[in-house]
Amino acid sequence: MKIFVASKNEHKVHEIKLLVPKFVELELIKTELDVEETGETFIENSIIKAIEYGKDVVQPVVADDSGLCIDVLGGFPGVMSARYMEGASYTEKMESILQLMKNYEERTARFVCVATYFNPINNFLISVEGYVEGSISREIRGTQGFGYDPIFIPNGYEMTFGELGEAVKDKISHRSRAFKKLFELLIKVGELKEES
Ligand code: IMP
Repeated sequence: MKIFVASKNEHKVHEIKLLVPKFVELELIKTELDVEETGETFIENSIIKAIEYGKDVVQPVVADDSGLCIDVLGGFPGVMSARYMEGASYTEKMESILQLMKNYEERTARFVCVATYFNPINNFLISVEGYVEGSISREIRGTQGFGYDPIFIPNGYEMTFGELGEAVKDKISHRSRAFKKLFELLIKVGELKEES
């Protein structure tokens, strides 16, 4: 069976592809539609994207909304993670975050992901949250992954996601936890079936 993935972020899509059950074919949505992320929370934005893109293709879709939440910055950049310093490179964005945090010893943070599945044919919708706790490094380290990976050290590790790479993210990341749970539940309720 085929599910469309509503994202223009090729890194995210690559990570999601590693998480889908073998019998599911994940196809990238090709659409002109540009959905505005007007929500104030990850769950709102994730649902907005899944519904808008699902209605557009009239096929089951998965979407996610995700971001980095830093405790001493009140959860910033949070839902603004992608839009923070729009137009700047991620090196510039991460340098700016490190600068904002330079006087803080308290560096706890988490990556959050809300994965949503929406089937416009039967109006079935489900959202699942996943997160990974960690801390913000003192400098940018590593070149793997994407976004803020080079400044995030997951708990239990000394290296950043940028250094640890795909194998570790596939096991413990916010996206991995959200999508694994999502597909597990979709199979459990019979929305995803091997023969369909
Ligand atoms: P959105 O979900 O498309 O609104 O954007 C999520 C943004 O959060 C990304 O563009 C990154 O800046 C950040 N982000 C989300 N997940 C990750 C991740 O796994 N690694 C690094 N940055 C991430």
